[in-house]
Amino acid sequence: MRLYNSLSRRIEDFQPLDPPRVGLYTCGPTVYNFQHMGNYRTYVFEDALKRALNLCGFQVRHVMNITDVGHLVSQADEGEDKMEVGASREGKTAWEIARIYTDAFLADCRDLNIIPPDVLCKATEHIPEQIALIRRLEDKGLIYRTSDGLYYDTARFPAYARLAGESHIAGIREGFRVGVNEEKRAATDFAVWKFSPKDSKRQMEWDSPWGKGFPGWHIECSAMAMKYLGETFDIHCGGIDHVHIHHTNEIAQAEGATGKPFVRFWLHGEFLLMNSAKMAKSAGGFVTVAHLKENGFDPLDYRYHCFAAHYRKQLDFTWESLGSSKTARRRLCEAALAVKDAPLKPACAEHRQAFRGAIEDDLNMPAALSSVWDCLHSGVPAGAKRAFLEDAEAVLGLGLWREATAASASAEEQALLDRRVQARADKDFKASDDLRKELAARGILVEDTKQGQRWRRS
Ligand code: AMP
Ligand code: ZN
Repeated sequence: MRLYNSLSRRIEDFQPLDPPRVGLYTCGPTVYNFQHMGNYRTYVFEDALKRALNLCGFQVRHVMNITDVGHLVSQADEGEDKMEVGASREGKTAWEIARIYTDAFLADCRDLNIIPPDVLCKATEHIPEQIALIRRLEDKGLIYRTSDGLYYDTARFPAYARLAGESHIAGIREGFRVGVNEEKRAATDFAVWKFSPKDSKRQMEWDSPWGKGFPGWHIECSAMAMKYLGETFDIHCGGIDHVHIHHTNEIAQAEGATGKPFVRFWLHGEFLLMNSAKMAKSAGGFVTVAHLKENGFDPLDYRYHCFAAHYRKQLDFTWESLGSSKTARRRLCEAALAVKDAPLKPACAEHRQAFRGAIEDDLNMPAALSSVWDCLHSGVPAGAKRAFLEDAEAVLGLGLWREATAASASAEEQALLDRRVQARADKDFKASDDLRKELAARGILVEDTKQGQRWRRS
């Protein structure tokens, strides 16, 4: 597989450190509000990447964080914690806000057919790991103390500008306005630990060797990525806005502490735009999964929409263009349904290679979609189309057969089907076999495919 690495600024051949295993870390949501479709563009890209790696024979271990503390309103480590902003907006505690929006995020991911990570880790549940990492930085003399917290001394990490580029970092340094935080030695220095205010009590705070407070936003990702994936791992992803601050700081923290390379491949997804600007909560006018549903869209129509552009190109959100993606996905589902029961034949090599070639070429999803349409429009036998589509769906996750299978099962039948999926997951083959017989007695034939359990009426 060839992937564009933001670190080298070129396309490189990807090989994991320890094949076939791949360690993948993706930055997760700050859970103080709903995530919008811009955020989900990035998560859909990361999901397609993970599925593509799996199709290419790798075994991906995916770790994602939940930012539930410490992400301040201003990029300059100033202002309120976003969690507390959410709490006062809704008259709830910061802990309740975190739970509500974590659940909302996971429900949206299900709707978008985003496979859950192997490890979903919360910043608030990894305070000791973050403190331990800060101690390592302290031992190396990389942090200093001010009246409001501990800061990373970026002048002492020579490779600080490597990911973002010298000219960008120079721009941040020159733009430094004296008076924002006079105790900071440089504009690029950032908080790794902030002290609780003396005059008010924070809802989320912990004791530390330096005083009561809470972690800076960036430290959680360095600490949790290394805990679950090791001090050097294969791929780290996020949206393009994270390059200059968040990911630059993650590298400084991890490599400053270990002296080893942190991440081998950095991949960044471009923005979803709305009215020619980045879709963002602060800019207002953002669209959520709930809005899509209210307007008669299946969230998977949006997933299709994401694949219409390469992940490194900006994509516009308009309701009209989403309408075209909805029509295209419906046609695709109809075509898939037409070949659903055809006896399987080997997928035709030409289209299969075109699809594989596209995803291996820096995850070129528009080209992958074209190969799907080429196959469906070609004269190959229905069984070969079915085989091709089953492979493609493992990456696309567009729910090609979902309506056909889900719509016609009664609640009771669905419960039996779900129990059988669970039994297989638990490797309880006796129970899964008994359930198969019970379903057969009701006229439902189940089949186990690479994409999981499928069924039809006998
Ligand atoms: P946040 O909740 O702000 O930390 O963002 C979660 C993820 O969404 C990050 O990877 C961001 O880089 C990404 N993101 C934020 N806005 C957009 C956008 N308009 N288009 C694409 N990705 C975005
Ligand atoms: Zn992160």
